Amino acid sequence: MTTVRPRKSTPAETEGTRRVALVTGANRGIGLAVACALAEHGLTVLLTARTLAAAESAAADLGARGLRVAPHQLDVTDQRSVDRLRRLVEAECGRLDVLINNAGAYYDDAQHATTADLAIVHAALDVNLIGPWRMCQAFVPLMRRHRYGRIVNVSSGAGTFRDPDAEAPAYSVSKAALNMLTVKLAADLRSTGILVNAACPGWVRTDMGGPNADRSPEEGADTPVWLATLPDGGPTGGLFRDRRPIPW
Ligand code: NDP
Repeated sequence: MTTVRPRKSTPAETEGTRRVALVTGANRGIGLAVACALAEHGLTVLLTARTLAAAESAAADLGARGLRVAPHQLDVTDQRSVDRLRRLVEAECGRLDVLINNAGAYYDDAQHATTADLAIVHAALDVNLIGPWRMCQAFVPLMRRHRYGRIVNVSSGAGTFRDPDAEAPAYSVSKAALNMLTVKLAADLRSTGILVNAACPGWVRTDMGGPNADRSPEEGADTPVWLATLPDGGPTGGLFRDRRPIPW
């Protein structure tokens, strides 16, 4: 693990201890922008990617901009990968304060529900729903220790029941389920100091969003970062875009 050098106090510090944040799928796109912003906020950031090389490359890019983050391998569909990282975080940091479930895939906009390849549906659920669920089960115990946690599930307006399009059935169903998981987790963790919310980043220029999207990754990261740094007593169990609740 990369050692993170101590730096001056920021609001992210509590009683001399820096808060620790973990971002999934942080080697590119919105996840990278979230990792960057959280490091700028003064959190210790664990930048994770499916390969260690991708995590190290992204961490080096941030390092060139004066931001130190710790790169780690993490595939959210692999229980052993998740368990290995949890043990490492427990041993090296002794805490996890912020979990950004950003990793996402299978925007199947060429599919329709009546003919969708169920193998793709299964794979989308594995990354977009079971992955965040697995991460929460692994890391909530570390959050409970300090009675503090901020879990942000990066979801999508495509996962709301107001979404009128027929396209992207696997992706939309997986994000709708992620929204319900957000509600269930928030209810389960009420009064624990752990806030759980979902964020829609808007349409963002990434590999998934494409070059014509109207937002930069930094703009897409704004609401997830805001939810990650909510004060105690902040909202829980909601879906937010542009820092405002939106209907499920
Ligand atoms: P990108 O395609 O640019 O990045 C996706 C990230 O997820 C990559 O780092 C990718 O890793 C990672 N990932 C995929 N599968 C796994 C896995 N099994 N384990 C760990 N990491 C994985 O997408 P965006 O940055 O655009 O999307 C980020 C989040 O925002 C997603 O949850 C997406 O659904 C959501 N979103 C995006 C929108 C947009 O317009 N872009 C709109 C609404 C929501 P690798 O590089 O190895 O493939």
